Amino acid sequence: MVSGDVLIPRLREFYREMDAVYRAASEQVGFTCVGCDGTKCCTVDVTLHTFIEMFYLRRGFNTLDISRQLTVLGRCRAIVQAKEDDPFGEAYRNSVCALNFDGLCCLYEYRPMICRLAGIPHIIQRPDGKVIESCGCSRYENDNFDISCAAKIDRTVFYRKMAEIEIQVVRAAGKRTKSRTVAETLGVEDPDNCFP
Ligand code: SF4
Repeated sequence: MVSGDVLIPRLREFYREMDAVYRAASEQVGFTCVGCDGTKCCTVDVTLHTFIEMFYLRRGFNTLDISRQLTVLGRCRAIVQAKEDDPFGEAYRNSVCALNFDGLCCLYEYRPMICRLAGIPHIIQRPDGKVIESCGCSRYENDNFDISCAAKIDRTVFYRKMAEIEIQVVRAAGKRTKSRTVAETLGVEDPDNCFP
């Protein structure tokens, strides 16, 4: 039977592989996030698309002390409300992710795939074979990194592997989850938690 306790170790191992690829790519060009406040990457639009990553992020949230939990919850609810009021308004657009404290992610070990891969240029091969290329973050593109020797991270394999993990949850639950931002994942009652 599928459960969080079965799939979380798989997810952690997968994250370790992903982090190793990212580390190798960043070392190749001398890229580092040290000193960056993350406000360009840690936007309110960072979105999770799978049950498993939402579950894992909530699990991380439960490890925070109660005072930090309350602060995060307050931030998440304010962000969700601002989005409901006006998704294009300044209150929403000027917010940063509720988990960013002084430029650092307070759930770094639990952060989702999209955060782990941010910053470095990448390619994605779509199912129809078309390859989509994307550049790095503004720091990567503007600073003087040795991008002449840079290889783009191929995210295709990571997306496929995540889908392989997620399909087990979807089969057990009989449904797919709707995508949610970090604030929606933590700040809104979880209507489709499918793990025991
Ligand atoms: S989860 Fe962490 S790394 Fe990802 S956007 Fe939020 S603060 Fe940044």
